Amino acid sequence: MKKMTPELLASFSDRTKLVYAGRDPSEQFGFVNTPIYRGSTVLYPSTAEYLDRKNTRFTYGTHGTPTSEALETAWSGISGAAGTVCVPSGLAAIAVALFSCLKAGDHLLITDSVYRPTRTFANGVLKRFGVETTYFDPMIGGGIEALMRPNTTAIFTEAPGSQTFEVQDIPAISAVAHKHGATVLMDNTWATPFFFPPHEMGVDLAIEAGTKYLSGHSDILLGMVTANEKSWQALRTTFDEMSICAGPEDMFLALRGMRSMLLRLKEQEKAALDMANWIKARPEVETVLHPALPECPGHAIWKRDFKGSSGLFSFILKPYSRKAVEAMLDDLALFGIGASWGGYESLITPFDPRSYRTATEWKAAGPALRIQIGLEDVEDLKRDLAAGFDRLRAAA
Ligand SMILES: *Cc1c(COP(=O)(O)O)cnc(C)c1O
Repeated sequence: MKKMTPELLASFSDRTKLVYAGRDPSEQFGFVNTPIYRGSTVLYPSTAEYLDRKNTRFTYGTHGTPTSEALETAWSGISGAAGTVCVPSGLAAIAVALFSCLKAGDHLLITDSVYRPTRTFANGVLKRFGVETTYFDPMIGGGIEALMRPNTTAIFTEAPGSQTFEVQDIPAISAVAHKHGATVLMDNTWATPFFFPPHEMGVDLAIEAGTKYLSGHSDILLGMVTANEKSWQALRTTFDEMSICAGPEDMFLALRGMRSMLLRLKEQEKAALDMANWIKARPEVETVLHPALPECPGHAIWKRDFKGSSGLFSFILKPYSRKAVEAMLDDLALFGIGASWGGYESLITPFDPRSYRTATEWKAAGPALRIQIGLEDVEDLKRDLAAGFDRLRAAA
């Protein structure tokens, strides 16, 4: 078989890349997959080579193993990035990315629709280390210029917001940021690099919670940060200085999940769109928040910039009581009630943006529900939810 060089791999489509990325059977005695390398110590053949170890491929477990190198190389290829670091969770990825571009005295801008633990991290750790955060309206676009201060060094975006689904204008925000010398970070977990190539769109540091679609099976915690040329050295140095390396088994499982990631994502995308349209037609529903539907804030931006949608969206019910919502959800057979998403099983969770938003007002009168579509038959899912809607009405 011809050797798969990075250049050759780059010439193939995403589907083919996923099959060949991050493995070289000639280095593994012919075995197809890169195995789990467990290790802290790396032994050197001589004192001279130990003293010159900066120039060797692997030096110590926290700085990389063939397993982490495989996943990082594969993910960089898929993301169009200069480099990737793998860390033990999605939130750890957000933390290391922010630490790589902030210092005491800096000002940070974060979208008001951000993943809630990102907000907790900024308001807690970052504040203690002297970084001030301002939250901005996710629909602000180029208007973000008005919020820039001389010490604004980073803008943290998430498109769409993973509960309320406003799609941000990343190219417009990036243009303003770069004019002022600020770094653009994006939590790209929802679209993944397949549906939104972050670095092509102006993002300097892109975060993917590997816990979600890369895993695909709700059984690992993992995060990755990719960087463009400009931000790569600072990211890699910060990662090495903090030493928050992901575990080898989790990285192996991520490589395994990666092979089927795009196929799962496309099935989940199709079923979620079908489901979103079905939910939209229900009399109990006020509105559906799905970037591919016209009523979603930022739908036109999604259409312009994104190549697909994922299996996660929200909808707002007409005003029903908490008791009625509990009656609807508690007896569902196929939708689990729980956080996270991206696995093969469907989930549904209530949420209330009023409990955390600070820059914008959440005006919906009825309760909001977020749905993750798994790999079940979508007609079975509709039947399950239809019975739930009947219980909602009956308990009202
Ligand atoms: C889940 C999630 C994360 C964090 O991932 P963990 O691995 O659970 O820390 C970050 N961003 C978004 C949008 C998420 O949904």
